[in-house]
Amino acid sequence: MRYAGVVVDISGGKLDRMFTYRIPERLEEQVRVGDQVEVPFGKGDRRVTAFVIEISDTSSYAGDELKEILEVSPRGVAVESHLIELAWWMKEEYGSSMLQALKTVLPVKRTVAPVRRRHIRLQVDETEARKFAEGLSPGRSAAQLRLLEALLTDGRLPYETVTGRLHIGASTIRSLKEKGIIQVEEETDYRNPVQVKAGEAKDVQLNEEQQRAVNTICGDDAGGIHGTYLLYGVTGSGKTEVYMELIDRMLHTDRQIIVLIPEIALTYQTVMRFYRRFGDKVSVLHSRMSEGERYDQFVRAKKGEIQIMVGPRSALFTPFTHLGLIIIDEEQEASYKSELSPRYHAVGVAEKRASMTGASVVLGSATPSLDSFYRCQEGRYKLLTLSRRAVKEARLAQVEVVDLREELLKGNKSIISLRLGELLADRLKKGEQSILFLNRRGFSGFVSCRSCGEAMKCPHCDVSLTLHRGGRLICHYCGYETALPRVCPSCGSRYIAGFGIGTQKVEAMVAEQFPEARILRMDADTTAKKGGHEAILSAFADGEADILIGTQMIVKGHDFPRVTLVGVLAADLSLNNPSYDASERTFQLLTQAAGRAGRGALPGQVVIQTYRPEHYSIRTAAAQDYDGFYAEELPYRQMLHYPPVYAMMTLLISSKDEAAAGRAARACAGLVERYIDRWKTDGAPQRFRENTGAAAREPELIGPCDAPVSRINDIYRKTLYIRHVDRRVLVTIKDGLESLTGWREEKGGVSVQYDISR
Ligand code: ADP
Ligand code: ZN
Ligand code: ZN
Repeated sequence: MRYAGVVVDISGGKLDRMFTYRIPERLEEQVRVGDQVEVPFGKGDRRVTAFVIEISDTSSYAGDELKEILEVSPRGVAVESHLIELAWWMKEEYGSSMLQALKTVLPVKRTVAPVRRRHIRLQVDETEARKFAEGLSPGRSAAQLRLLEALLTDGRLPYETVTGRLHIGASTIRSLKEKGIIQVEEETDYRNPVQVKAGEAKDVQLNEEQQRAVNTICGDDAGGIHGTYLLYGVTGSGKTEVYMELIDRMLHTDRQIIVLIPEIALTYQTVMRFYRRFGDKVSVLHSRMSEGERYDQFVRAKKGEIQIMVGPRSALFTPFTHLGLIIIDEEQEASYKSELSPRYHAVGVAEKRASMTGASVVLGSATPSLDSFYRCQEGRYKLLTLSRRAVKEARLAQVEVVDLREELLKGNKSIISLRLGELLADRLKKGEQSILFLNRRGFSGFVSCRSCGEAMKCPHCDVSLTLHRGGRLICHYCGYETALPRVCPSCGSRYIAGFGIGTQKVEAMVAEQFPEARILRMDADTTAKKGGHEAILSAFADGEADILIGTQMIVKGHDFPRVTLVGVLAADLSLNNPSYDASERTFQLLTQAAGRAGRGALPGQVVIQTYRPEHYSIRTAAAQDYDGFYAEELPYRQMLHYPPVYAMMTLLISSKDEAAAGRAARACAGLVERYIDRWKTDGAPQRFRENTGAAAREPELIGPCDAPVSRINDIYRKTLYIRHVDRRVLVTIKDGLESLTGWREEKGGVSVQYDISR
């Protein structure tokens, strides 16, 4: 007799544990760990879905006391049991229910209608296509030319790639089809998103530093050492070439590779580089895929049809059986952290998965997270540096900082400084392109005093207020509304309406100052239409505008070779964030923005406008000096006991009922306080006795207090921060808290979420 331990797919606190079922003889061959099965559940034997997490030959119950599994869900992918183990580890390490962790890790089959797939290919031969292309005007038919060029290189492209990544509209496709130049094929069977012949990649001879990086990692691997490596090199220093060489070596040892890339950087160019080198050994996941399509890619991985999976965070759970390497590009990106429970960080999970299967982890970045760089200094990661750009001609942009306080003294009330205005005029004259960038998330402008830099904040929420039509200031979290004050509440200056006014106002001002300029704006209004975002980028890439105005989304991952000027309008805006890593995020954003200028043959210039030119985030970003930034930021984290020096756990306790949220928060705090008191009187708990220095001291509790945004949508949010040098102490405290609050999210209308730093 064989038994299966399952977790049932029903929410409810009491159910988040393992239940044992008998495996009937007829299913004995079929049931595997990781399968989805149907089981009778509860008094009425309701039929429910469950996940098999364990199979054994013995059970502590007598066989006839147990119910039987009814059937195995069709076409389930049995994943390696190590993925179940990984889910268990995630639940323990980040705090969530087992069901939430399983659902994160296991590919879930959803029944979906077969998707129609469309591909575009050339209808004529290459010579004829080239002849046709020569007859087109590069200005008016830029989109047609771009499509032809792509088809001449890659033969056949998915329809979505053409409309999406290549920014080519349906009318262009229709017109080329009508002329008999291309054809659109349809098929229902989903195979590989792109078909290219492997080996079309250009032959690159790795330079000395690249070679050293490859040799270090492969040498360790051959010697049975599997660590984490940080590949630190500016954009263009050849990190991707290093990744590809590593992948090549892994393939020679018959092992598989996962490559994580932030969704926003999953650009056509990057993905095509992998396809050209490795052909159909590669598959790509992206958020536009349906659940069914993702699932199909996991099935192919499991069957061994592909060896390399490229994708965002979720690609981490590709059920490869011989994983050798996990690469995480742009490792500092915030999108590697999950917003849902379990709130895992991709780097942490990658390291765990790698250690379970004897794989290595390679992190790549031009501006490494403090977390990773600190680990290098501590000797936990190996640092591999690429110190210069791989291609000689490619130069770093020249950066200038403009002090906005002086602009006002000079009588310039425009949000474009005199210097930036001068350079914009120069680019317009030369016919080169410029980008103007407001560095903050979202679109709507918030207001700050132009004399002292003070931002207008909501009195209830501690978020900045947004300026709306008619001079109303509104809080986007709680709805608080007030009139725009006439003078700055903190310094009395009259110049407060001027700034943060959002992209719309910027556009109006630029248009007034440069009536001849063709301007494109990218914000909530202009991208609301489906595909609006990409249509704008494509128009800009085609040279249909001189100036692109927008927010954060325009500085990431896009290549515009004709852009030679980038203006950052108010670098301080992201410094006003109430988060401990605001300086780090600002530094990264400014460095990225600077990287947008001069990516083609022409040299680039960057102007950073700021009220705080002396702030080290701005100073070091302007100098493109990561080491300088790190040297200033780390002591601050150390002094204030923030990550990466200390591990931090944030508890978010939320409820519609403010009093209930408050009570729950105080109960949690009480438990932590008792733990701290015991530590102070009895010394560290047994298992932490070997800790020395700061790690031997008791944990710190801050709160309970209102969360940085204390109420959203009428849900009150309380928070608790707990810090300790040893992350394991926080996990132990979390376990204690879970027994108090229940590991289910909801209990008596109060939900508790855990968030533990890397
Ligand atoms: P990163 O990933 O660090 O931004 P890439 O790998 O994309 O850098 O390299 C930037 C450019 O330099 C690419 O066009 C790439 O093909 C080229 N390149 C990289 N390494 C070399 C090399 N060793 N020799 C010649 N060209 C290289
Ligand atoms: Zn508010
Ligand atoms: Zn002021």
